[in-house]
Amino acid sequence: MVIQLREYTETARVLSPYKDFKEEEQVIHYREHPLTGEFSILPESLTTKRDLLYRKPNEAFLDEMIEKTSHSCFFCSDNLESSASKFPNSIFPEGRMKKGKSVQFPNLFSFTCYSSVIVFDPGTHFTKIGEFTPELIADALLNGIDYIKIVKNIDNTVNHACIGVNYLGTAGSSIFHPHAQVILSTLSFPYLEIISSKSKEFYEKHELNFWDELIKLEAKSERYIEQQGSFHWMVPYAPRGNYEIQGICEKKNLDSLNENDITALASEIVKILKLYAKMKRNAFNFILFFGPLAENQKYFNINFSILTRPNYNPGPTVNDTWFLPKFCYSYLIFHDPEKFARKIKKVFGIK
Ligand SMILES: [Zn+2]
Repeated sequence: MVIQLREYTETARVLSPYKDFKEEEQVIHYREHPLTGEFSILPESLTTKRDLLYRKPNEAFLDEMIEKTSHSCFFCSDNLESSASKFPNSIFPEGRMKKGKSVQFPNLFSFTCYSSVIVFDPGTHFTKIGEFTPELIADALLNGIDYIKIVKNIDNTVNHACIGVNYLGTAGSSIFHPHAQVILSTLSFPYLEIISSKSKEFYEKHELNFWDELIKLEAKSERYIEQQGSFHWMVPYAPRGNYEIQGICEKKNLDSLNENDITALASEIVKILKLYAKMKRNAFNFILFFGPLAENQKYFNINFSILTRPNYNPGPTVNDTWFLPKFCYSYLIFHDPEKFARKIKKVFGIK
């Protein structure tokens, strides 16, 4: 196998106040991302600190915030008609794109030349993490993909596109009402450029597609969960955040994705969200990203990733985005990926 999964170990020595200041050895595992070289750092000592940082969600607080934010919400049906922006004629003459319950419109505060917001369901101010349905997710993703296809047809200078979700404030959302965002730019976002250019290098060097090889390698590992439609689901060897689950699609290009692919993807996302709810996690980010749009390439597969963020709770919350991920491209992981995969399979009823 051309892909190498590398792990390094370091030992720290500490005179611990919990052990009368006797020397304690702490083992730290570094896992290297097999494509990018980023580190996932799994310190054995931190498994006990996890519960301090990730406090259990306070349901009463969440309910209170749902109620408070529902009075003047721009994304609720009553206000959306007058508050949300509209696409120009050149993009979508009807102004807003609808699919199922989802409604899509341009981001009022655009941060790329094409950026939109998709409200999953304007008729429901808040959908709890365990209450999303496959239809709700599939319609929003299909709506976003329609937008990407429209933009791609009218502007051949756009390069990368992705659809992402920040769910709740601790995951970076400024608006309570659940929504997704689509961003397209003529410039390549650096991380997407890094993974696609490294995939291209791998393809040229080995005459193999990195992602197809990774699926083959991981299918034999404890981290592999299951295949649903064209997506292969696994816990990454080197997660980029806590409880990350990755879906690697066999398909390489946006135009080859069909409704069945998205329906299968959405069903798995809903299973994962229910799993997170069961694990008492209430905030998450996800991203569905596509390779370079302009070319019919064979080296990059459509990719999906989802991970948890600190629970949305009252009082001070420790943010898990700090200097290590921000500047060192390394991620502190409080769980063992293999153990997490075993838990997922148990919950999903996979033998
Ligand atoms: Zn609302």
